[in-house]
Amino acid sequence: MTYTFTYQALPMRVVVGPGTIAQLPDEVAALGLSRVLVLCSPEQRDTGELVAAALGERAVGVLAEARMHVPVEVAARARDLALELGADGCVAVGGGSAVGLGKAIALEHGLPVIAVPTTYAGSEMTPVWGLTEGGQKRTGRDPRVLPRSVVYDPELTLSLPPDLSATSGMNAIAHAVEGLYAPDATPIVSLMAEEGARALAASLPRVVADGTDLDARSEAQYGAWLCGAVLGATTMSLHHKLCHTLGGTLDLPHAATHTVVLPHALAYNAPAVPAAVAALSRALGGAADPARALWELAGRLGAPRSLRELGMAEQDVPRIAGLAVANPYANPAPVTRDGVERLLRTAWAGQPPG
Ligand code: NAD
Repeated sequence: MTYTFTYQALPMRVVVGPGTIAQLPDEVAALGLSRVLVLCSPEQRDTGELVAAALGERAVGVLAEARMHVPVEVAARARDLALELGADGCVAVGGGSAVGLGKAIALEHGLPVIAVPTTYAGSEMTPVWGLTEGGQKRTGRDPRVLPRSVVYDPELTLSLPPDLSATSGMNAIAHAVEGLYAPDATPIVSLMAEEGARALAASLPRVVADGTDLDARSEAQYGAWLCGAVLGATTMSLHHKLCHTLGGTLDLPHAATHTVVLPHALAYNAPAVPAAVAALSRALGGAADPARALWELAGRLGAPRSLRELGMAEQDVPRIAGLAVANPYANPAPVTRDGVERLLRTAWAGQPPG
């Protein structure tokens, strides 16, 4: 085999393990920070306060206002508060929403972000930021927003409810799936993708059966790290484009939308990507049809499998298909309006993929 690729490693520092939250003060100190602002969602204020208490004098405040897709008003308030408090960095505790808020501050003021993820979304491993204004989400890549250090403590995920654990984990698997057939895929990143998908597919049923199973939580978080790193290293295709369009246009929940669409997007691309299908087959315990196996996994996890149950109206299918094919982007199988509309109809109805 002749290899041809460009591999650009992202600077990445991760601290992994139960109880590693206790090392957060050292991580903050190692970056030379002494006045950090802690960011979290309103629902996770207690966790945010706990982290601030652990940081002692190095924490100058807690802003518990992170929301899905980073509304510009929230970003503006967070940036103002960071300036007002003289913060020299941020600690984002939570899912993609909290990390996204930290990135919004970094984008404008250049303050370093330390991430403490509590879901499996993977934003902490990417230089991708997003901001939403008037229902329109803008995204971009900027190395300044990539967290400088990430503390993965599975104990902080014990409280993640079964439904969010399942959908957030499937969201992470989606990064691996699209990373495996990305135009800029490389052998190293493909290894990470296969192992990340394997770890999540193996651990999620155990996480959902018993949310306090620390071994399962630890394996799921390890998988989420790998899948997040794949997202940060590659260009996503049809699946992410569809989810972005569904989320932005119809305000469907992020992780649940990924869960529903993933088997169908993979079935759409599968004939064009035999090597990715082989890797996913290995990751999913030898499954002959990985798209079908992911659909069955979602069923076993009790996760949603139809866009209908997420609140989408069937008459929105043509509009979303039109938006999803409006601008060209890299995808292994040709993206056609008819093909995408068929995919969406199957996903809307919750039928098996293909
Ligand atoms: P989220 O951060 O919005 O969290 C969902 C809910 O779960 C929130 O109410 C939160 O408070 C709660 N929660 C989080 N962790 C918890 C825990 N351990 N226990 C109890 N409750 C907990 O959801 P998400 O799926 O992590 O992130 C979605 C957002 O992240 C979207 O806006 C998406 O676009 C973005 N995202 C960005 C990237 C990127 O690379 N930029 C990657 C993935 C996701």
